[in-house]
Amino acid sequence: MTKRIFKYTELIIFVTLISGFAAILFIFYAYFGTVQDKQLKTETAITAQAVEEGGLDYLRGLKLEDTRVTLIAGDGTVLYDNEEDASKMANHADRPEVKEALEKGEGKSTRYSDTKTTAMIYSALRLSDGSVLRVSEERNTVLTVALGMVLPMIWVFLILLIISWRISLKMSRQIVEPLNGFDLDHPLDNQDYPELAPFLQRINNQQKEIRQQKESLIRAEKDFVTVTDHMQECLILLSRKGKIISINNQAMKLLHADESCIGSDILYLERRVEFQRGLKKAADGEHTELILEYAGRHYQADISPIFSEDLKAAAGMVVLMFDVTDRENAEQMRREFTSNVSHELKTPLHTISGCAELLKSGGVRPEDSGKFVDLIFSQTQRMITLVDDLLQISHLDAGAADMKWEQLSLMDVVKSAENRLHGAAMTQNVQMTVSGSRPALIWGITRLVESIVFNLMDNALKYNRENGRVDVTVTEEDKAVRLSVKDNGVGIPAEDVPRIFERFYRVDKSHSREIGGTGLGLSIVKNAARILHADVDVKSELGKGTEFIIVFPKTKPTEA
Ligand code: ADP
Repeated sequence: MTKRIFKYTELIIFVTLISGFAAILFIFYAYFGTVQDKQLKTETAITAQAVEEGGLDYLRGLKLEDTRVTLIAGDGTVLYDNEEDASKMANHADRPEVKEALEKGEGKSTRYSDTKTTAMIYSALRLSDGSVLRVSEERNTVLTVALGMVLPMIWVFLILLIISWRISLKMSRQIVEPLNGFDLDHPLDNQDYPELAPFLQRINNQQKEIRQQKESLIRAEKDFVTVTDHMQECLILLSRKGKIISINNQAMKLLHADESCIGSDILYLERRVEFQRGLKKAADGEHTELILEYAGRHYQADISPIFSEDLKAAAGMVVLMFDVTDRENAEQMRREFTSNVSHELKTPLHTISGCAELLKSGGVRPEDSGKFVDLIFSQTQRMITLVDDLLQISHLDAGAADMKWEQLSLMDVVKSAENRLHGAAMTQNVQMTVSGSRPALIWGITRLVESIVFNLMDNALKYNRENGRVDVTVTEEDKAVRLSVKDNGVGIPAEDVPRIFERFYRVDKSHSREIGGTGLGLSIVKNAARILHADVDVKSELGKGTEFIIVFPKTKPTEA
């Protein structure tokens, strides 16, 4: 701004100086013209006086350089001229100054001289003998005057220019300095220029507006961050070119990033081809869903375009990622479950169908028919057990909400299971002992507790060996009752222990089937324990035995 003011001031001064000098020049020119006229008139009068007294001789004796003197007879004949040969000169009677002098006694004129090719001023005086004396000089031209003044004028011009340069520099600084010192944070506090008051008022209003808009933007952004940071899902907002605009905590955790990633390309965080393809599609306005794996867990990534109101193409993109591992696992389990159930049912059904067909065709000897009927019966029983277990599992999956919670004695349940399994224990030559405090009251659902206890004790017998032992212990604790079912049977390989609670999982499939196992017993135990809020633990050593520990709460879980 200083420069601009200075430039304009200098320009004004320059133009003023030039026009000033031009005006002075013309004034001088006019003034010098008048002075020259007067001088010429005086010179004419003096010369005329001298000619009156000395005649032509006086004129011939004159030595003049810039002045022309002409003596003209009353009829216009040139008698003498100090510059030209008088005899060759034309009659001068028609010259205006000569004419005027003949008439009025004196005359003057200014005109362009053909002889001298310049503007001349003429002054003429009639002498007493009737002749006319004419004195003439070259008229000063503007250029002559200007050339005469040029050097001092240049000096004056330069001096004035330097002075004006300094003054305008100082002046422009003085004007701008208060403006530079303006406190634009508080525009109304600046009083230096009252002329700027409306402008400052406007700045003040606009600042207020900007402040309010900024505050509401910050508030909106804070709300957005608070909401997105508390989301379980990962959320990333991207520009159309894939630059990160916003990323929530979950997404940063998942992609091992921090806030410094904002503004950089998403490529730095996720380079997988299918993800990049999804982004490209979103930029073209298409929605994509894909499953990506992070640290062994599956995430569904929804990549969608964001359309602004006025634009047809995507203005940006949003990526929403959520953990679908459980859903995927459940899906997988459902698929496996269905195929397992079909498989488990297929074997007995084939056996039953085969036996029935043989009996029907009469291809079985009457003495063997009993064996086939027994086989049909045992396979039917197996199917009934399997269907019962399946019904129990699906009931537990549904939450067993219809079942009654009550206080019951764990020891009573254990004793009753012991009675049911007594025969089997005897057959298998396994010694079963039950010890512990009575009644060992717990809060639970009797049928589920019975199921847990029976399955564990039954397994302890099934996976035992000749002359083996099963020790069932019930221990009262402060807030819980602990059930331990310990056997010294076959044990479970360490790598199988984490999987034994899965549906249809058996360590030794053929042996389990042989002894009537469905592979569902322990998953019933686990699901029932979950509903009863009981903890399940298992310790096993291959070839040495297994111990299952279940800790039942004494009180209603909600009251605990
Ligand atoms: P199953 O009907 O085959 O017994 P379970 O779900 O009850 O099915 O048990 C799953 C598997 O765990 C069994 O097949 C067996 O291999 C193993 N298992 C369960 N209990 C014991 C135990 N007390 N000792 C050794 N292995 C056991």
